[in-house]
Amino acid sequence: MKTDILIVGGGLSGLALAYQLEQAGKDYIVIESRARLGGRIHAHIHDQDQSKQYYDLGPSWFWDGQRRMAKLIDDLNLSTFMQYAQGELCYEDEQGNVQKGQGYASMAGSYRIKGGIIQLIDSIREKLPTSKCLSDHTALSFEQNETGITTTIKDKHQHTISIHSEKVVLALPPRVAAETLSYNPALSAKTIKAMQAIPTWMAGHAKVIATYAKPFWRTANLSGDAMSRLGPMVEIHDASPQEGGPYALFGFVGVPPHIRQQHPDELLKATRAQLTRLFGEEANHPIDVVLQDWAFEKETATDLDHQPLNHHPRYGLTAPLQNLWDGRLLLGSTETASDFGGYLEGALEAAEQVLAKL
Ligand SMILES: Cc1cc2nc3c(=O)[nH]c(=O)nc-3n(C[C@H](O)[C@H](O)[C@H](O)COP(=O)(O)OP(=O)(O)OC[C@H]3O[C@@H](n4cnc5c(N)ncnc54)[C@H](O)[C@@H]3O)c2cc1C
Repeated sequence: MKTDILIVGGGLSGLALAYQLEQAGKDYIVIESRARLGGRIHAHIHDQDQSKQYYDLGPSWFWDGQRRMAKLIDDLNLSTFMQYAQGELCYEDEQGNVQKGQGYASMAGSYRIKGGIIQLIDSIREKLPTSKCLSDHTALSFEQNETGITTTIKDKHQHTISIHSEKVVLALPPRVAAETLSYNPALSAKTIKAMQAIPTWMAGHAKVIATYAKPFWRTANLSGDAMSRLGPMVEIHDASPQEGGPYALFGFVGVPPHIRQQHPDELLKATRAQLTRLFGEEANHPIDVVLQDWAFEKETATDLDHQPLNHHPRYGLTAPLQNLWDGRLLLGSTETASDFGGYLEGALEAAEQVLAKL
């Protein structure tokens, strides 16, 4: 197979780039390793009586000042709503004592997308020809030759195929690109080291979502926000759809990745007990409780991402990451964006940066 531009990674950055190339009438193919598109954007779906509700397992929010997100949402005709923020916040101390009225929802003012962030992915996918967007296709290696780059790929039947392209865009976390892919000629040690040094934003995290028939916390004048020093969840928010139920609470898990991995059932049991301590007996009767642990998804995280981050890293392309293979090999995930690196807005910024270079 041949194409001008091969995009490796069907997350928001890869798909946003594909969308722009499609609009410009350019020749490209996107390959995505997972069976689903979206990468760190993913949803738990409730399908009842043919009506679907979506619960964000990855990102939930975007914010004022993120102009690329606002424009894309507008272009795709999606609707937004504000994070639920009415009522009081709960605080749980180290002993499990719960205090209510400790301030207000910490994510007030954040925007969500009706139908979940996954609507961005589904809507872009609808605008791309299926022949140009191949899921279940994993890049394994790249070889530079006189006319471009030959990428070796494994499909879901374990068949090996090759795609020759003038350029390759690595729209996947730089750490994953450094640790799981091979390059001939080899990238310099300086470049590999620089790629490994870039933490993949939120890759070490796990999220729990509990869905309920009724939003009992709202009725009790609670926003659904909670901060806990006992855990297992350290930060909890309302994750309900804009309209109707099931309603939901989600929490970021504060337990280290290796312990989560060893005790997933105990973890789910403990999150339910915690929700009950915070929000009362009704919280003990969820429709379901789902754990999404990003730290053990090999397309997202490497072992390096199991170390907690204490601050938002400074992202962007440092010198060893620029002009690889005479400019034919480009990095393009959110981690490469100069201003909004790490965020959804950064994924769109990265696509814009790559487009300018193509
Ligand atoms: C729990 C969590 C919460 C978050 N919350 C927010 C939030 O509220 N707001 C916000 O702005 N951001 C948030 N983020 C960050 C946001 O999700 C990312 O900025 C964005 O989704 C990154 O998109 P991307 O396309 O750059 O990378 P990714 O989504 O990681 O996409 C990379 C793609 O490459 C694919 N891939 C990997 N290896 C290969 C291979 N060998 N061959 C082919 N394909 C491959 C992967 O499967 C994946 O689909 C959150 C992230 C997480 C995990």
